[in-house]
Amino acid sequence: MSVDAHTRLVGLLGHPVGHSRSPLIHNTAFRVQRINAVYVALPVLPEQLADAVAGLRAMQFLGANVTIPHKQAVLPFLDRCSRRAEAVGAVNTIVCQQPEDGGPIQLYGDNTDVRGFLAPLLPHADLLEGTEMLIFGNGGAARAVAYGLLTTFRPRRVTLAARTPQHAEPLVHDLAAYDETDALRIVQIADAGPLVRRSQLLVNATPLGMTPNVEATPWPFPEDFQDGQLVYDLVYEPRHTLFLQDAAVRGATAIGGLEMLIGQASAAYRQWIDQPMPEEAVRQALREG
Ligand code: NAP
Repeated sequence: MSVDAHTRLVGLLGHPVGHSRSPLIHNTAFRVQRINAVYVALPVLPEQLADAVAGLRAMQFLGANVTIPHKQAVLPFLDRCSRRAEAVGAVNTIVCQQPEDGGPIQLYGDNTDVRGFLAPLLPHADLLEGTEMLIFGNGGAARAVAYGLLTTFRPRRVTLAARTPQHAEPLVHDLAAYDETDALRIVQIADAGPLVRRSQLLVNATPLGMTPNVEATPWPFPEDFQDGQLVYDLVYEPRHTLFLQDAAVRGATAIGGLEMLIGQASAAYRQWIDQPMPEEAVRQALREG
């Protein structure tokens, strides 16, 4: 489909954005479904975020994704947010909604990282209900992960393994309203050994192991992984991180971050285009691209 006077726009607001896989994902989907839209990566400095968001409204974008460093900062510039986005305290998707009465476009914020994260876990729900879980990290992604786990699997325990435990305290405080089973705890990473051995699910929500630092892992003691565990790395570059390799050798089921990437994109796409994203075509493009 060629770009013409009817082409609609979707943008990625972040800084930097040059490494992003989102243009490949969404432009593949638009091409396959013959939708006259283009997804563009837009480098936006923090001091220009308000102008950039106003521009989405003024130029009648279909919507946008939001990435580091704007996921939290963008909230005050939106008209409404999903309960998920409010709970997590971060927006990664904006939908420009045209009211039926012809009034000004409304900007709706959502956090599709939660849905994307949960997508590859739902087939294992029976294994996860009421169990013990461990998350390495306490940043923006860990917030989406913790919210998703607490509101989906009624876990017995969800522990955040943090290098700086006081950085994890606001997360526990902010998610208290969603922690019906009083499951959230914090542990210093160095003390996480017993939890690594007995948790049903381990999640890496740190950048450790990401290209080019592929020799890094949040848990450098492979003997602690157990047969039957689910081990999930949010890092998607490389696809088989050292964390996942170590877990798989011990018989754990390894889940890479690519499925979350596709899942969060798919949940955003459906809100912009009102039809399902062609996930297999996108998966194929990511393998080749
Ligand atoms: P973030 O907000 O910057 O948080 C990073 C977290 O990692 C912080 O808790 C930080 O601890 C911790 N950390 C960083 N370096 C560490 C180290 N050397 N040892 C121990 N902990 C360390 O980043 P984010 O947005 O949460 O993203 C985290 C990872 O998830 C990134 O790799 C990102 O690419 C990935 N991600 C993937 C997807 C997907 O779709 N697959 C989606 C979102 C994010 P401190 O608090 O002590 O600094």
